[in-house]
Amino acid sequence: MPSLTFFCRTEGCFHAHQVIGPTWPVETKCIECGAVQAISPPDDSDSGEGIATCAVCECAALFVQKDLDQRVGCLILGGGVAVALLLWWKVSVYLFVPTLLAVWILDRFFRRWIPDVVICYRCDAEYRGFPNAAAVRPYDAHVGERYSEGRFERGKL
Ligand SMILES: [Zn+2]
Ligand SMILES: [Zn+2]
Repeated sequence: MPSLTFFCRTEGCFHAHQVIGPTWPVETKCIECGAVQAISPPDDSDSGEGIATCAVCECAALFVQKDLDQRVGCLILGGGVAVALLLWWKVSVYLFVPTLLAVWILDRFFRRWIPDVVICYRCDAEYRGFPNAAAVRPYDAHVGERYSEGRFERGKL
């Protein structure tokens, strides 16, 4: 089921809203500050263009990434290095590189099963479960830079 998560755009209010398709509401009301946010229904059809513009801020700049907390990714690799060091110390120096390689391959392998999340550069809205997520380009630092200035001024977006 496709879902959309976004943060309240009132300055200083960071309440997270979640709306679930396929019957999209046209607006949500923040339970913390009472602000009403209009939503243009995102395209969640199999044959459609997918999410072309953000349903919250109408920004056309979106990127896709694996729906995995970056900290979890670091933890997996960190754990792999720890195991490799332990094997090096306890078993054999020759196990260090192959162990790291095995961890890296396992990491790649499992990442394939992690669903994609599409994120808006401008307002950080997150789109999950959309069939065309793979068509969206991954994060581009140049584009991100252009939108990062307004990031902490949500009320003024
Ligand atoms: Zn709010
Ligand atoms: Zn947006």
